Amino acid sequence: MENFEKLIPKLPLIKQMQRREEVFWVNPRKTSFAESMEGCELNAGDVEDAQQRLLRFAPLIEKYFPETKPLHGLIESPLVEINAMKDCLNEKYGADLDGRLFLKEDSHLAIAGSVKARGGIYEVLNYTEKLAREHGFLGEGESYEKLGDEEVRRFLNGYTIQVGSTGNLGLSIGIISAVLGYQVIVHMSADAKQWKKELLRSHGVVVKEYEGDYGEAVKKGRELSDADPYSYFIDDENSRTLFLGYATAGERIKKQFHDRQIVIDEEHPLFVYIPCGVGGAPGGISFGLKQVFRDAIHCFFVEPVQAPCMLLGMATGLNHEISVQDIGLSGKTHADGLAVGRPSGFVGTIMKKMFSGGMTVQDYKLYEYMRDLLAQEDVFLEPSACAAFQGPVFLNQNPELQDYIRKNGLESKMQNAVHVVWATGGSLVPEDIREEYIHTELQE
Ligand SMILES: *Cc1c(COP(=O)(O)O)cnc(C)c1O
Repeated sequence: MENFEKLIPKLPLIKQMQRREEVFWVNPRKTSFAESMEGCELNAGDVEDAQQRLLRFAPLIEKYFPETKPLHGLIESPLVEINAMKDCLNEKYGADLDGRLFLKEDSHLAIAGSVKARGGIYEVLNYTEKLAREHGFLGEGESYEKLGDEEVRRFLNGYTIQVGSTGNLGLSIGIISAVLGYQVIVHMSADAKQWKKELLRSHGVVVKEYEGDYGEAVKKGRELSDADPYSYFIDDENSRTLFLGYATAGERIKKQFHDRQIVIDEEHPLFVYIPCGVGGAPGGISFGLKQVFRDAIHCFFVEPVQAPCMLLGMATGLNHEISVQDIGLSGKTHADGLAVGRPSGFVGTIMKKMFSGGMTVQDYKLYEYMRDLLAQEDVFLEPSACAAFQGPVFLNQNPELQDYIRKNGLESKMQNAVHVVWATGGSLVPEDIREEYIHTELQE
């Protein structure tokens, strides 16, 4: 902690973070979209490549998961307008929000019930394609449905997929890998919920539990996997593949807006608020959205007051060289999906000039937002996902954000704005746990 003492006088924000206050930070390094892409290691072509791969796999996904039939094997979530919740945010929280408010229901993504269905499943499919091609199971132009044949399944069963997770990533990777035929080991941090471990075990997944936090689960998982030539480790902190899986959300939501004749351009700005853990999901989604909407979109990340790792890395400029524990925070939060102490350095580097800012939220408020959304819209989200509501609530009440709006020439455009709260998880939460969440009241 001492090493970082000298930073604190320079950054009053850190003092506030140490007091576990809700904070807001506007990214001073944000540039135009074009400039932010200079020297970037990934580009729109990489995202398109991922999108094409998902299309190739769609027949196989449809075969294994009949619930994806309506979308012909694509795993995509509804975009719903939430007017009653908008009124609630305005009346109860003084949000004073102009424009339209939508919920992007990744909570209801098929197979995994969370945003991790984007990145996690994509990475397993990507690896499967590579293995199948290398071993002659996929000829040029052959349908990927073939990968469900007994012969291929037996082959995949000779390989192990491993991952470290706070819960949802393990669920998405565990389920898809087990269904495809792989052996799977998920390394769970202490924060991971019991029901997630049980659900995984019911799919035949081996769940290893660790006393420590997410970082430790990842480290142990990687060591074990590296020691086995037939094992593949999915690295949430550094995986470009996972990131690109998330990024396909950009084109998908563009189509959803288009189908509803909702215009997004510089006159009709889009504000997106995404809960952030290690940064892969919000970073990848933001990257994908940026490729599509460029300077018309403004991306904000939301983290718990005890685990604002991305905000800390970005505000200090130290990226993954600093952890929340370094400034005396515990990293422990009711938002289990966001309980991460150190951000992804790779994501931080890409987001540095691209995302608009970050903010934090107190745990008690997650349950408030959860109950409000349930009452107003009859949609249930897990606590982590509810962090995103802090965005629209803060927007018009925070002086720095108001300044951001002025500096970006957005004042007169806010009545045309579209706000998207990215709901990152919840549909798989069992009934008894929902009840427990709904009745959880924390002290401020
Ligand atoms: C994983 C997760 C996030 C954040 O994703 P990161 O890639 O860790 O930043 C947000 N919400 C939920 C519900 C999650 O499971």
